[in-house]
Amino acid sequence: EKIFSGFSKTRENLAVIDELLLYWNLADTDRVLDELEEALLVSDFGPKISVKIVDSLRDDILAGKLKSGNEIKDALKRSVRDLLTSKGKKTELQLGFRKPAVIMVVGVNGGGKTTSLGKLAHRLKKEGVKVLMAAGDTFRAAASEQLEVWAERTGSEIVIAEGEKIKAPSVLTQAVKRGKEQRYDVVLCDTSGRLHTNYSLMEELVSCKKAIAKVIPGAPNEILQVLDGTTGLNMLQQAREFNEVVGVTGLILTKLDGSARGGCVVSVVDELGIPVKFVGVGEGLDDLQPFDAEAFVNAIFS
Ligand code: GDP
Repeated sequence: EKIFSGFSKTRENLAVIDELLLYWNLADTDRVLDELEEALLVSDFGPKISVKIVDSLRDDILAGKLKSGNEIKDALKRSVRDLLTSKGKKTELQLGFRKPAVIMVVGVNGGGKTTSLGKLAHRLKKEGVKVLMAAGDTFRAAASEQLEVWAERTGSEIVIAEGEKIKAPSVLTQAVKRGKEQRYDVVLCDTSGRLHTNYSLMEELVSCKKAIAKVIPGAPNEILQVLDGTTGLNMLQQAREFNEVVGVTGLILTKLDGSARGGCVVSVVDELGIPVKFVGVGEGLDDLQPFDAEAFVNAIFS
């Protein structure tokens, strides 16, 4: 329901499709598909995906596989759902068997990283998972305090930097070592998110990843990038940059309860092949949900 209301603007932009398809006939196909492509573009699907979707619909119409407006609409929804779940990538967390599993959470400031980390801790704890948090955003003074509040709210233990000069990789090393010694199931690592165009942030993230792998070879098990669902196509650029540097294994889309913009998510998943694992639908403890492609598609197309 929250996603449905968050996507009201996207749905409004795409509502024109229903009208177009209501009066569709074979002779009118080109005009209808041009307008459909326009509606997808306006809804942030991006040119590549919009053309890809429309071309596949055209092929199926000309091959006689789609014979009515309703069938075209269903095929459209199916193709978006398939794009969102393509390449068979798992949308569940892949934590492996070795304890502790390490999850690094990355993303630009303001996107909802700390909040998502807190909500994820709550989810895991509800499943009986023993969680240790690591305050790896040593750059922003308030970040550790904010994470401490979440640790308290969720009843999680937390490792924070002792002293101003301690850098993120040391905090994470300490946390992962403690996680190993004290038999935690999952170590959740926060990281810095100052502007992604700042190269030293990327260097720091690489150092963080290496520091974790030094304690547990093969870790981190997941590198989850938090993307603000209201940012539109800028989201694609952010995902490209983080993925290139640290190798993102999953996405958390936040603020889908606000005025979220749905189309670009399809572009990110399709271009980078990174699955969406969770969606944020509010600021409360229970407002992080597993990604459901079907519900997502039903929320953007009425
Ligand atoms: P960070 O800088 O990336 O760590 O971002 P924060 O976790 O501090 O979040 C920035 C703001 O977005 C805060 O006011 C959060 O409460 C809010 N926020 C985060 N996730 C969501 C969400 O899913 N829905 C809504 N409505 N607000 C969110």
